[in-house]
Amino acid sequence: MLPIGNGRVFWYATRNCPAGEQDRPGERKPLLHRKPLLHRLFHNWRAPIEQLIEATDEAAILRNDILDRRPVRHWGSGRVTLLGDAAHPPTPNLGQGACQALEDALILARCLGSARECVVARRAYEAYRMKRSAVIIEQSYLFGRIGQWENPLLCSLRDALTPLAFATVLPRQFAAYARAPSVGEARGGAGLELRRPTAHREGKT
Ligand SMILES: Cc1cc2nc3c(=O)[nH]c(=O)nc-3n(C[C@H](O)[C@H](O)[C@H](O)COP(=O)(O)OP(=O)(O)OC[C@H]3O[C@@H](n4cnc5c(N)ncnc54)[C@H](O)[C@@H]3O)c2cc1C
Repeated sequence: MLPIGNGRVFWYATRNCPAGEQDRPGERKPLLHRKPLLHRLFHNWRAPIEQLIEATDEAAILRNDILDRRPVRHWGSGRVTLLGDAAHPPTPNLGQGACQALEDALILARCLGSARECVVARRAYEAYRMKRSAVIIEQSYLFGRIGQWENPLLCSLRDALTPLAFATVLPRQFAAYARAPSVGEARGGAGLELRRPTAHREGKT
C-alpha cells in the first residue's frame, strides 16, 4: 500500500496461481469477480486491508501475471537502443521499474550531450546502465521468490526474519537503489566511458 498523493493510495497483492489466468480486455465475467475474490483471499487480514479493497472501484483493479526477463547484454545496435522495461523489465517487487526507466532517460540524455557521435553515446549509455539494471532485475526476482515460498517452515522463518531485515540490512539496500547517478558519473566520470564501440556483440540472454 503506497501513498500517491491527494489522499489516494496504490495497492497491490500477490498470490501463487497458474500462469495465464490474467483478465483480458472485454472479458466481463472476471471483472465482476475481482472484488469478491480479493475479499475471500484477504478475509480477516490486518486492518485496513479489507477496507482498502472495499473502497476500491472494481474497474480500477487489474489482475495480471508477474513476469520479468533475465538481463540481456544487447540493447541495440547502430543508432538504435532501448530503455525502460523494453531493455530491462524487472518484477515489481522492488518498485524500481519506472525509477530505472527514468535513470535510463537521464543517462542517455547526458551521454548524447557529451559524446560527439550519437552511436558512441548510445553504446556508452548501455555500458553504464546494464550492470545496475541487471542487479535490480535479479534482486527483485529474488524478493519475489522469497515472497512466493509455500513451505510452511520456510514461510515461518521468512516471516520471523523479515522485521529484523527491515531493521538492519534492507534500509541500506533501499538507500543504494535510491542513489541516482551523479552528473559527474554521467559525464564520463566513474563507470562511464565515451569511446567508439568495439565489434558488434551478439545479444546473449
Ligand atoms: C503492479 C506493478 C507495480 C509497479 N510498481 C512500481 C513502483 O512502485 N515503482 C516503480 O518505479 N515501478 C513500478 N512498476 C514498474 C513500472 O510500471 C514499469 O517499469 C514502467 O512503467 C516501465 O516504463 P516504460 O516506459 O519502460 O514502459 P511502459 O510504461 O510499459 O510504457 C510503454 C508504452 O509503450 C506503449 N506501446 C507498446 N507497444 C507500442 C507500439 N507498438 N506502438 C506504440 N506504443 C506502444 C504501451 O502502450 C505503453 O504505454 C510497477 C509495475 C507493476 C506491474
